[in-house]
Order: sequence, then C-alpha cells, then structure tokens
Amino acid sequence: MNPWIAKAVILAAMIVMVAIRALHGQRSRTVKVVKSRKGPLEVALLILAWLGFFVPLFWIASPLLSFADYPLRITPLLGGFACLVVGLWLFQRSHAHLGTNWSVTLQVREHHRLVTDGVYRHVRHPMYMALFLYSLGQLLVLPNWVAGPSYLVTFGILFALRIRAEEKMMLEEFGADYVAYMARTKRLVPRVLLSNPDITRPPWTSPRSRFGLRQRSCPTSRSAFATRAGLISHRALRGSRVLTSST
Ligand code: SAH
Repeated sequence: MNPWIAKAVILAAMIVMVAIRALHGQRSRTVKVVKSRKGPLEVALLILAWLGFFVPLFWIASPLLSFADYPLRITPLLGGFACLVVGLWLFQRSHAHLGTNWSVTLQVREHHRLVTDGVYRHVRHPMYMALFLYSLGQLLVLPNWVAGPSYLVTFGILFALRIRAEEKMMLEEFGADYVAYMARTKRLVPRVLLSNPDITRPPWTSPRSRFGLRQRSCPTSRSAFATRAGLISHRALRGSRVLTSST
C-alpha cells in the first residue's frame, strides 16, 4: 500500500490532538496555579514526550528515517486508525470533564475540584489511557520502526515515572475522597473490562456494593490500601490528612 495513506492519517490525527489541547489548555491557563510539582525531571519527561509525538513529522517531511521503513499493510492500518479515533475521542472527553482542573504537568489550580464523573467514573487516568491508545494507533499506522513506536516509548516513560507522584499529589490534596475514588476505580482499564473483576476489588468493599447498595465505610482499610500502594506513608496517615479531609 502507498505510505502516503499512513502519512495523511497521522498528520490529520496530530492536528486534531493539538487542536483539542490548544482549545482546552487556553481555558485552564486562565486559572491560577496554587501548587506545582514541576521539577527538572518532569520538564525533561515532557520534552521527551513531545519529541516522541512529533517524530512522525520528520518521517513525513524528510527521507532521514526511510532506512527503517517497512511495507504498509491494510490490517494494522485499519486497527491503528480505530485506536487513533477512540484515543482522540477519549482525549477530548477527558479534557471536557477535567475542565480548568487540567494542567500539562503536576499542578493544583485555584478551586481545584476532584473530578470523578463522566469518563473519570470508570478509570482514574482516562487522558493517559487516551494517549496510550493514540500512541498504539501511531505504532500500527506508521510503517517505520522509528517513527511508529516513538510516542509509545516516550509517553510510556513519562507515564511510568509520573503516575505515582501524581496520585500522591492527589491524595495529599483530596485525602479520603481520593482514597475512596482509588478504591472504586482502576488506573487505566475499567473494572468491567477485566476478566475477573472480583480479584481486583479492594478488601473493604462488601458484596452489597456490587448491587448498588450502600457500602459501609472502613477508613482504616482504605488508608491501608493507600499505604500498600506506596502512595502515602504511615506517618502521613498518622498526621490524619487522609482520614479527616473528606468533604
Ligand atoms: N491523570 C489524569 C489527568 C492528567 S492531566 C488523566 O489521565 O485523566 C494532569 C493534572 O490533572 C494533574 O496535575 C492533576 O492536577 C489533575 N487531575 C488528575 N486527576 C484529576 C481528577 N480526577 N480530578 C481533578 N483533577 C485531576
């Protein structure tokens, strides 16, 4: 197949992605940042991820990466196209739900609200899920060993090194509300899509909750869940921010 199809698809996807981010980013920049965890590592990871995102432009515009080309086939192209479409849809929905609470980095904004509805009802990190789907789409659509996986690799590194710091920040900010949110959601894949959701149920949820009945609160076990997850220390819990800061 003619690689120009792949070039057109990825170019269109990149434009949509940048447009969504620009529109929503503009809105959240109007709200003051009250806390920031933007260290040198975070800045380096962001630059790396953006480089990975833009590598396909080099593949499109110059012959530099042509040594790593392989023939384009219809099945990965169609699979990749589907991943890109679903990824962009989820990216737009996550931005719409987060609203002005969104930041490109680890930040808390003025009047920051913990969003747990919409696409945030099923997973804690739908925007990262969207970016994983997008990067998988890029990998499948681009018939090049460098440009194809560039975003999957660089975004994967950003995700792996950021996710615990982000959840720790959210725990410190929202305390028991975020602990409870962690208890009922997975990071990336909705519980319903997992083969055996019961195994992943946190220990304090009673079978009653499965039928939508009111669940008994068990803050100690919830806190134990957070400490086991390595996100907050026993010492911090004794300081009782997590146990007392619910609204
Ligand atoms: N990890 C989320 C959001 C990514 S944007 C996702 O993948 O969908 C990163 C910023 O979003 C963080 O700095 C944090 O301040 C904010 N954030 C993350 N989860 C949030 C939530 N559930 N509610 C409100 N803000 C959240």
